[in-house]
Amino acid sequence: MIIPKTREQIELIRESAQIVSKTLGMLAKEVKPGISTLQLDKMAEEFIRDHGAHPGFLGMYDFPNSLCMSPNAQVVHGIPNDKPLVEGDIISIDCGALKNGFYGDHAYTFAVGEVAPETQKLLEVTKESLYVGIREFKAGNRVGDVGYAIQKFTEDHGYGVVRELVGHGLGAKMHEDPEMPNYGRKGRGKKFVEGMVVAIEPMTNLGTRRIKQLPDGWTILTADNKPSAHFEHDVALIDGKPELLSTFSYIYEALGIESNEEDEFRAKTYD
Ligand code: MG
Ligand code: MG
Repeated sequence: MIIPKTREQIELIRESAQIVSKTLGMLAKEVKPGISTLQLDKMAEEFIRDHGAHPGFLGMYDFPNSLCMSPNAQVVHGIPNDKPLVEGDIISIDCGALKNGFYGDHAYTFAVGEVAPETQKLLEVTKESLYVGIREFKAGNRVGDVGYAIQKFTEDHGYGVVRELVGHGLGAKMHEDPEMPNYGRKGRGKKFVEGMVVAIEPMTNLGTRRIKQLPDGWTILTADNKPSAHFEHDVALIDGKPELLSTFSYIYEALGIESNEEDEFRAKTYD
């Protein structure tokens, strides 16, 4: 059952989402060759707590850390470890925060130094597919409209769309209805309702869409060991239109990147 949120509840989700956004912005400066994902995890945990929030993933379903850290062929749910990142890696960082009883949950895939051109392209297309999907999260549309848009855009680029893992509703629980697959059929699935909040999160593979899981019971990786990217935003349906509650702007500020990609999804009253 979809649980629509009041404006006040949406503001609380925005607050948690923004803590995640700032955490990712802080990490953007630290992601470089030589640092381990475990070191980054500890920095993130401290940062989240310093902002009066609880790391959203820590202990959830018994997950051992604050960040899901998924390098290269890992799709999602990678566990931080002490292996240093090296030039040419990509690292998907998924982060959650819980404050005032509401969750934020969003993710970004970083390049570690210079990466192979085909990998850089995968990152750009996956991020673009996120916005292609968000654009369809509007009054009158259904879950399948978002999934269809992401799938079409992604497969037109020759990439694999992961089926087994999906986006989700977001609120007092990290994972609420509806499931938000990155594939689907136009006009199918649950109808969007005013005030609902979702996490939209394409997981896109350079090669096959097929995945496998490591014996740790968590880590998902591509079946062909080719790279995978993951980008996630939290979005509310307000006045029939998608409004971003999370932002990559702290990341871009840290990295000196100019971007207007989020402008069309910002509330006029919100900077
Ligand atoms: Mg996430
Ligand atoms: Mg999520």
